[in-house]
Amino acid sequence: MSMIAEVAADPRKDLIGLTRDELAAELARLGAAPFRARQLWHWLYHRGATDFAAMTTLAKDFRAELDRHYRVGRPTVAVAQTSSDGTRKWLLRFGDGQEAECVHIPEEDRGTLCVSSQVGCTLNCRFCHTGTQLLVRNLGAGEIVGQIMLARDQLGEWPSPQEDRQLTNIVLMGMGEPLYNYENVAKAIKIATDGEGLSVSKRKITLSTAGVVPMIRQCGAELGVNLAISLHATNDELRDELVPLNKKYKLAELLQACRDYPGAHNARRITFEYVMLKGINDSPAEARELVRLLAGIPAKVNLIPFNAWPGAPYECSSDAAIREFSDIVFAAGYSAPVRTPRGRDILAACGQLKSDSIRKRRSERPMDAALTP
Ligand code: SAH
Repeated sequence: MSMIAEVAADPRKDLIGLTRDELAAELARLGAAPFRARQLWHWLYHRGATDFAAMTTLAKDFRAELDRHYRVGRPTVAVAQTSSDGTRKWLLRFGDGQEAECVHIPEEDRGTLCVSSQVGCTLNCRFCHTGTQLLVRNLGAGEIVGQIMLARDQLGEWPSPQEDRQLTNIVLMGMGEPLYNYENVAKAIKIATDGEGLSVSKRKITLSTAGVVPMIRQCGAELGVNLAISLHATNDELRDELVPLNKKYKLAELLQACRDYPGAHNARRITFEYVMLKGINDSPAEARELVRLLAGIPAKVNLIPFNAWPGAPYECSSDAAIREFSDIVFAAGYSAPVRTPRGRDILAACGQLKSDSIRKRRSERPMDAALTP
């Protein structure tokens, strides 16, 4: 029997991905007192335990009972790659055999984990590799938070360290559109930010969206994480082409949602991502237009040199064009760093993530409608 079949065949319920309340409710069904849920939470999310037998503050019989009913899930690492620059990419396989990628980017003073929210993506942005992948499904809350836990396993970061972490920041910038999987993403963020568990600060989490306007409002009201917008164009005509979601939510609406985003002030700016495509969106006039559009929004601009992938219809702007664009935005008072491509040699850079999950039968294809709110 293959590994995948074994995982899929495990009928026990996965505890990872349950909120504190849900965990307490599960334990109440076993007749356990509420403080047991707190102890279990500590083992799962602070200590990173995956084996009930190791949870020594719990009675032996209770551990055995837990083991009969539940499991502590982790995605399986199907492929692990390390770039010459230290970036690590894991192709993760979930219980049903579907796969998604997760990337760890070490820097001098921090380490960022780029987390996926879906297998594939429904958006079809013209310059993005993930958008060429056919099969799409939402990741569950446990599969999203499971990426953080898997990274902690791989980095040897248990129990959750208080300082000198290799994993300090989380960006929801992997495969998928997080705001088309809001419920699961919200749950995963809630679990990740719990101070008695993974203990990642909200201020260190950034959610990137192509611009699902109504959900930006909900995200702002409920989650309070940093926001990044994949802008990429300064007029609707071009943005309709590059980011087809723009046909549904136009630039003016999107920028208004940014103006209204709570907590967006000078200390906590909204990041505008702008991929640099040669001859498409990289002129000085567009840089000036970008500045005009951002007026009144506490913003910073992140220029992303286009990362090519096999068959991509674009080229990356020249260094000179990127520098000139950046200088114009900077002169207008916005920080406009150029995002250093990381892990390009292992296709781990922005827009290069793709798994080989393919749709097998038409009947298994999830309807796009089921993935949108
Ligand atoms: N769906 C979300 C999350 C993906 S984030 C979003 O669109 O924001 C991934 C970021 O990388 C986005 O800003 C995306 O537009 C950008 N990107 C996609 N393909 C790219 C490529 N080939 N080169 C550089 N950046 C790319």
